[in-house]
Amino acid sequence: MLVVMDKSATTEQIDYVIKVIEDLGCTARPIPGGDRVSIGVLNNKGPVDTALFTGLAGVKEAVPITKPYKLVSRETKNEDTLVKVGDVTIGNGFLTLIAGPCAIESEEQALTIARHVKKSGAQLFRGGAFKPRTSPYSFQGLGEDGLKILAKVRETVGLPVVTEVMDVQTFDMVEHYADVMQIGTRNMQNFSLLKRAGESYRPILLKRGMAATIEEWLMAAEYIMAQGNHQVILCERGVRTFVHHSRNTLDLSAIPMVRKESHLPIIVDPSHAAGRRDQVLPLSRGAVAANAHGLMVEVHHQPDKALSDGAQSLYPDQFDLLCQQVQAIFNVAGGPDPF
Ligand code: PEP
Ligand code: MN
Repeated sequence: MLVVMDKSATTEQIDYVIKVIEDLGCTARPIPGGDRVSIGVLNNKGPVDTALFTGLAGVKEAVPITKPYKLVSRETKNEDTLVKVGDVTIGNGFLTLIAGPCAIESEEQALTIARHVKKSGAQLFRGGAFKPRTSPYSFQGLGEDGLKILAKVRETVGLPVVTEVMDVQTFDMVEHYADVMQIGTRNMQNFSLLKRAGESYRPILLKRGMAATIEEWLMAAEYIMAQGNHQVILCERGVRTFVHHSRNTLDLSAIPMVRKESHLPIIVDPSHAAGRRDQVLPLSRGAVAANAHGLMVEVHHQPDKALSDGAQSLYPDQFDLLCQQVQAIFNVAGGPDPF
């Protein structure tokens, strides 16, 4: 950590900061600058809390140098993590396409969509059985009946299934049916849920919180890994900004940033980022060009009748085109950047 002093800091204030650092068992290294002094904190065993310094007289700011996350970081493990789901591999060198409706509505709906998306090239099927809806009066999902339909899709169509787990109470149940367990944007910092996910034998697809920094997102993944589950897939799904032309703003720059910082795979959900069908294809092309390891896309054969997120759901033939286009982009742009 670097403690940056005010320009007007007195010698006493600087000496006091040095004493606080030494009392922590660390080495203080004052670095005189043109008009202010900064003090390096060296030989710390673990992360030092910036709050210990920010309130001290004469201190302008305390800047952490070492990363707060460890297990998710390339400093701990440089080679890319590959997450295996049945025959599907998610991670560097692969483009994984996950598709399906926002919510499981009926067996017929799920099977129809699953057959369409499989034909187009999807390797995993998605669909919510427990839905985190903004309004308590909106369709909340079929619950365990929806999970049973997902199991039927796996059996009859032959696609592994991804579905959201919303709380610790239903974790065991969802874990029993799902191949990949999704933690949604609203639960990214539900620490009890993250800890339970860390004890799971299933891979976890961790969405970015809608107002989370990359560091907060990686720290959420760290919670899961710290409990022993290292099969984590990150999913960028757009963040809240001031614009109205889309539901969220897809943060494409998160992809190269996460790939640089972490060995975990990162996929993109263009559907919840856009909130509208017409943006899903261009955002998907952009995400794959930016080197995402995969996409998770909402598809519905009758979006006008969908019980949730119909406006952003692609028709099956649109998803078919998406698959062709992103596969072509992946063939040209896939793989790690040379810097
Ligand atoms: C979803 O994928 O079904 C979902 C609710 O997404 P998010 O958590 O990103 O809003
Ligand atoms: Mn949805």
